[in-house]
Amino acid sequence: MKTFSYLSAQDVDAALQRITAEPGAKFLGGGTNLVDLMREGIEAPETLIDITRLPLDGIEELPDGGLRIGALVRNSALAAHPVVRSRYPFLSQAILLGATGQIRNMATVGGNLLQRTRCLYFYDEASACNKREPGAGCAAREGFNRGNAVLGTSDDCVATHPSDMAVALAAIDAVVEVRSSRGARRIALTEFHRLPGTTPHLESELAPDELITAIELPPLPIAARSHYRKVRDRASYAFALVSVAAALQVDADGRIAEIRLALGGVATKPWRARIAEELLLGAEATDESFARAAAAELAPALPLSGNAFKIDLAQRTVVAVLRKLTTDRSAS
Ligand code: SF4
Repeated sequence: MKTFSYLSAQDVDAALQRITAEPGAKFLGGGTNLVDLMREGIEAPETLIDITRLPLDGIEELPDGGLRIGALVRNSALAAHPVVRSRYPFLSQAILLGATGQIRNMATVGGNLLQRTRCLYFYDEASACNKREPGAGCAAREGFNRGNAVLGTSDDCVATHPSDMAVALAAIDAVVEVRSSRGARRIALTEFHRLPGTTPHLESELAPDELITAIELPPLPIAARSHYRKVRDRASYAFALVSVAAALQVDADGRIAEIRLALGGVATKPWRARIAEELLLGAEATDESFARAAAAELAPALPLSGNAFKIDLAQRTVVAVLRKLTTDRSAS
């Protein structure tokens, strides 16, 4: 591991001043991904600015029924929060399925959004990887790509975004609050992560000198009946092959009045399934409608040699989750 300097920021302004003065610095929250990347030599910040003492660890109910979550709230605290469990259960489920208890106790909400892909070649310095080294090539395209993406890919990168939490946040239309020495701004979660295009090393809209301060959840009454399902290779913790976050309201006449749907494990960013949502709004809540919408969402998918199975798996998982929300009154 390369030598680096360490300092602990006592307030947000001091943290922002320091990162503005030191472009080679990075913020350190829970460190559950960044420290691994430093050990592997993939990240080599000159300075780590420890932000864990900043007052960004509160969860606040908003007057409109939404929730404001400080960026340093630990994943375990968010998953266990009674308002999250009752009003946004799929968010709690996504976090609980995302990592072990030890990691959830360390990992922060802001850091979860910024975790980097687990594409095998990204971690193998002997392999070509445009994300690690722009212009080097992409070993995954012709390599072992069973876990890679089928949606939102480019010639330069086919890596999936690894977060479960962010998939539920995409369905909720969460908003990311960020600050820098230039001021504060808000970014829709669905716009926060970038598609890889020709610059896969640029993964989010966050500028190097910006700090995530909070994530805001708008009120979303249908989320009280929502579900997150994660399909993975083994029952213990593993990254998603496919995941589905869904919330659904069906009218008395059996038609879909409101729907939120997002996919994980299949795309280069948390994937809001807007094509499927549009087809399902007003449609009969039947397996046939669900399957038609899922097929339309996956129609643009571009499979690689080893991951075509994800297309069918994603469609069947969408149908299964929507069916559960429609028929299982105990679903949450
Ligand atoms: Fe690198 Fe992306 Fe290709 Fe994986 S898919 S090897 S992360 S460029």
